Amino acid sequence: MSFLTDDQLFQPHGFINGEFVAADNKSTFVVFNPATKQAIAEVARCGREETKRAIEHAKDAMFGWSRLTAKQRSEFLMAWHDQIIANKKDLAKLLSSEQGKPVAEAEGEIVYGASYIKWFAEEAKRIYGDIIPQSSSDSRLLCIKQPVGVVACITPWNFPNAMLTRKIAPALAAGCTVVCKPASETPLSALALGELANRAGIPKGVINILAGSTAEISSALTESSVVRKLTFTGSTPVGKLLTTECAKTLKRTSMELGGNAPFIVFETADLDAAVSGLIANKFRNAGQTCVCTNRVLVQSSVIESFTEKLITATNKLKLGDAFSADTDIGPLINESAVKKVRELVANAEQLGAQSVSAESNYPADSNFVAPIVIKNATTDMDIFSEEIFGPVAAIFEFENEAQAIEMANDSPFGLAAYFYSNDMSQVWRVGEALEAGMVGINDSAISNEMIPFGGVKESGQGREGSKYGLDDYMEIKHLKMGGL
Ligand code: NAD
Repeated sequence: MSFLTDDQLFQPHGFINGEFVAADNKSTFVVFNPATKQAIAEVARCGREETKRAIEHAKDAMFGWSRLTAKQRSEFLMAWHDQIIANKKDLAKLLSSEQGKPVAEAEGEIVYGASYIKWFAEEAKRIYGDIIPQSSSDSRLLCIKQPVGVVACITPWNFPNAMLTRKIAPALAAGCTVVCKPASETPLSALALGELANRAGIPKGVINILAGSTAEISSALTESSVVRKLTFTGSTPVGKLLTTECAKTLKRTSMELGGNAPFIVFETADLDAAVSGLIANKFRNAGQTCVCTNRVLVQSSVIESFTEKLITATNKLKLGDAFSADTDIGPLINESAVKKVRELVANAEQLGAQSVSAESNYPADSNFVAPIVIKNATTDMDIFSEEIFGPVAAIFEFENEAQAIEMANDSPFGLAAYFYSNDMSQVWRVGEALEAGMVGINDSAISNEMIPFGGVKESGQGREGSKYGLDDYMEIKHLKMGGL
């Protein structure tokens, strides 16, 4: 790609055992720029056989990788982190070209993704075991933690860099090796990580990355008895399907799935802070974020002034190409994402809501959707129960705290939730009552490498990041020594 400073970061092949390779049958698939709908790359369309080979290489590589000291693994991870940071501008350009988010936001994703590698490089050195009080005077009881085995990582298109580093980093820190399948919409960001892993000196076979036939790659991964764990980020229906497939070989699974985040504004809230928190959270990545607000619940006494402030702020957001400096919101990923958003808005309008749209100079058949605020939304509308994944803020009214909590928890999902309130006792009550893995209180940016990320209910199982993020990649073994 001519606009990259380092064109070796553009790697349109599968990454198996440290080599970039074409598909066995030389077939390819096309990657598009969502802003222009133009083809930007033809990428090797890998399938079952390539995946099986990648699994075998990951298995072989695990022998050496798992026997390194924690400190040695940590040093490799730090070298990879440093390579990523040194190339963050190119990686951001690559990411924006295939995903559409503004390039400054893409750079933010690269730095965020790298922060997990640095964090787990540090945590790798703190994988402690236990000494358990002995059950008889001549025995000793120990617990040690060991890598779970070869790990399969399947990731979505909305954060093509960070969703992968959040998985690979803890896996490698624990001593596992990985076979990764990025989304077909955004394979280039993932494959560039393979190139940088080579430059960091990470041994061949420790990281393998294949894009192509989703059905063939994922079934080869789930059917394999060598793969001992699947870590998946994506939609809830696919997560359920993969959990079922993994049950056949009793693989461990981690599932980071869909959300339906409530954002509650109580009457004691600082409304300006709530509006700016909502703007940042709702419209980042054009609303295509699992933790972004899906339902804005506002107390009746402040709903009018809050709505007015929100519409004013929304109208200032600039829709545009990722590479224009003043762009706040890029395109949606593809036509079907646009269609889904338009259908949700139409359904709300049919059932009595009013939509207020910011300006757009883009044609209706483009992938660009201007920010929309929906007034007078009600719980019977699809927009209350479905993940929007677009720049639409639907406002629902509530009378009191009990009703707000009931509405917020009225969902099979439980990933993130947010609320703004300046009543301290309400802060504790509501924070504890919300059914979500992550709760932002007077704060809408809830994710960094130091805190656990994950959901409850049908939003998944397992946690990424934090001191808990390694647990998913390790087995606990006890050693009981007698006759001492
Ligand atoms: P998706 O479930 O369609 O795809 C995710 C990945 O699974 C992709 O690599 C895709 O190719 C693969 N896939 C799709 N169908 C498959 C199948 N039948 N078998 C095996 N693999 C399959 O999701 P998406 O549209 O790429 O991403 C959006 C979804 O991801 C949203 O629901 C969003 O909330 C969720 N998400 C969750 C988190 C989180 O951390 N909880 C983070 C980002 C995105």
